[in-house]
Amino acid sequence: MWTALLGVVLMGAPEPLTINPNFWSRDDRAGDCRWDATQNRDGRPSLRVTHTGTQDWAVNLGPPIPVTETLALHLQGDLRLSGTGDAALSFVVYQGETARQWAAGSVALRAATAWQTSTAKTLVGAGVTRVQPRLVGNGTVDLWLGPVTLTRRAVPTLGAAALAPITLKNDALIVVLDPKTLAAQVTDRRTGQRWQQRPAANGLVPSTIRRETRAVTVQAVDQDGESRVTVRVELDVTRPELKWRIEGKGPMGEDRSIPGAWVTTPASQHVVPMNMGIGFRADDPVMKGQWLVGYGGHGLSMAFYGQVDGAGGVLNIIDDPDDFLLRIDRENGRLEARPTWQAQRGQYGYPRRLRALFLPKADVTALALAYRQDAKARGNVVTLAQKAKKNPNVMRVARAVNLWNWTGDKLTLAKAVYDAGFRNVLWSGGGSPELLSAVKRMGFIPSRYDIYQDVMDPARLKDLPWIHPDWATSMWPDHLVTNAAGDLTKGWVVQDKQGKDVPCAVACDTEVLDLARERISGELKTHPFEARFIDTTTASEYRECYDLRHPMTRSDSKRARMKLLQLVTDLGLVTGSETGHEASVPHLVFYEGMMSLGPYRVPDAGTNPPRIVDELPEDVLTFQLGPKYRLPLWQLVYGDCTVSSWYWGDFSNKHLGTWDQRDRWNMLYGTPPLYFTDPENFAAHRARFIQSYRDTMRVVPLAAGQPMTAFRVLTADRTVQQTQWANGLLVTVNFGAKPFKDAGGTIAGGGIRVTPPKANR
Ligand SMILES: [Zn+2]
Repeated sequence: MWTALLGVVLMGAPEPLTINPNFWSRDDRAGDCRWDATQNRDGRPSLRVTHTGTQDWAVNLGPPIPVTETLALHLQGDLRLSGTGDAALSFVVYQGETARQWAAGSVALRAATAWQTSTAKTLVGAGVTRVQPRLVGNGTVDLWLGPVTLTRRAVPTLGAAALAPITLKNDALIVVLDPKTLAAQVTDRRTGQRWQQRPAANGLVPSTIRRETRAVTVQAVDQDGESRVTVRVELDVTRPELKWRIEGKGPMGEDRSIPGAWVTTPASQHVVPMNMGIGFRADDPVMKGQWLVGYGGHGLSMAFYGQVDGAGGVLNIIDDPDDFLLRIDRENGRLEARPTWQAQRGQYGYPRRLRALFLPKADVTALALAYRQDAKARGNVVTLAQKAKKNPNVMRVARAVNLWNWTGDKLTLAKAVYDAGFRNVLWSGGGSPELLSAVKRMGFIPSRYDIYQDVMDPARLKDLPWIHPDWATSMWPDHLVTNAAGDLTKGWVVQDKQGKDVPCAVACDTEVLDLARERISGELKTHPFEARFIDTTTASEYRECYDLRHPMTRSDSKRARMKLLQLVTDLGLVTGSETGHEASVPHLVFYEGMMSLGPYRVPDAGTNPPRIVDELPEDVLTFQLGPKYRLPLWQLVYGDCTVSSWYWGDFSNKHLGTWDQRDRWNMLYGTPPLYFTDPENFAAHRARFIQSYRDTMRVVPLAAGQPMTAFRVLTADRTVQQTQWANGLLVTVNFGAKPFKDAGGTIAGGGIRVTPPKANR
């Protein structure tokens, strides 16, 4: 009834928009716009926009539109676009003189030979004073824009009585929900602590509100002004837990941020599972905003984010992380974490769920262990001990240092390492059957590199100075990931003989399993491998594929990749992958890169892994190696399930001056070092390698397979940190220069105290 009313009575007719173009670009003088009568559209000259810069640009299209009631606005026009950048019609949304949204309704279009229709849809209401129609874009483009139409439609709103705040209660929490903004105010009855949520993203207008004892269901007109979204907010019967379920139908153009972020105080501490983990104050002046996806190792390694305010904290658990983005942005000078839902192949697809668990005493350990309980309930805590029942080599890898090598004679290196006293070694550098047999006799675990994503166009192989032996060339051209526009998705980029970039295509995850089975089982007939490293599988984003022969959602991509890792495990190998993501915990054993926080790795760590460097940028020293930001979140949740090391281009011996510091981190977290070396480098630094091996081996074998039970920061400047494991192992590291005294004695500046488990004392 209500929907019909909207469609029949209130729908406006498209009106032509008067265009008074006004060009702006972030790169100074990188482009312009002008009328072009040679490219007519609907019998009228089009607007040509040329931009040669790499950043964003915009064209204000006409006079601003005043807003005095709740309005659904649709802007529509045709674009013909070439170049590597993108473009979209959109609106700037103003509240007074403040722009609240810079590109509302924008859905980016990319190059195509034909004209494409760009549509921006937005809903504007309370507080909005005007909107500015614009054409916006990023990067290099040459485009024509035809005539543009604007459609306005008034949207009826509920009366003030229906929109009054609603209170939900259980023994632990009192929740007051504002149905207009879906913002909750939560009071923890156990402590009196109060939490306030920001309004959900602009442009939801409630049409019905249904109340139950501990739940509210709000049906609303979505921010595109035409589709419907249903948001259910439910307080658990007994637990201090508030749950959201967001359900929409049909296309989902823009990302949706429901609910809003928890408001921060200057002292609020964010706890974020970026790789191993990181924490920072909301008012930290150095930390940049971060956008972290839920669907890949370079986003959130685990599906949560936490906030600690004074004694209490909130643990936000993302039940549906496969199309999720956590946006940490600065709002009024403070960093706030906003949950954001992305489309599943352009659609809402499935209900999206999020929970907030309120902890009266919430340090880092409490937050992480609460999440571990959740992961356990899902069956995701599969321990190394359980994995070792099927393959005893699992525990050998858990006690071993990871040794990479590309150049020089491999047998010379293996002998030198053995002669130096190394016994627990994951030999990652591969080699001939004879070499592998030799390292196996030394007690090392023979392993190698492999990959099932990058595919090079066979026609381009002749132009390349070097051909990667593991490229999945047989996947060309029928088994590749295709994006929504019908183009091949780009993967790793290499340079041809002229130095020009040539991107790889990407094998569709659903298509590589047979190739992997044949390649690995075939090789095992001649090569005595006991382990295998599968690059990129748990690092790159889970992908969507639009090839009709093998379509894939990100959830499908994730499932296919887990099958790949399980296949390697089922072939009797100890399986590893890059960076790390919790979906893979049941299927593999080791991660290379979990210790290396993605944004703070040594520069060119991926393009030239073995390079030794003399200097490190400030960011690496501060965030990667300094004591101020790192947190052992992964170790607290999954430390007894997996083995985490540095990224192969960000390794223990990368920089002589900070090797000690990396060893300290390995000892504090109970994780093995990763070395990249060759016979010459090993001989030159033999004593230092021996020291690193001996130091870390004081902890690694004792921590292997043990759950980490506590992480403590013992000094206000965070220079002294302590970790504890279930067997009683206690490691205290002094990252500072001054001695540190406690009941256990004195730890010199830079010193480490290892208190072994009682059974080993
Ligand atoms: Zn596919």
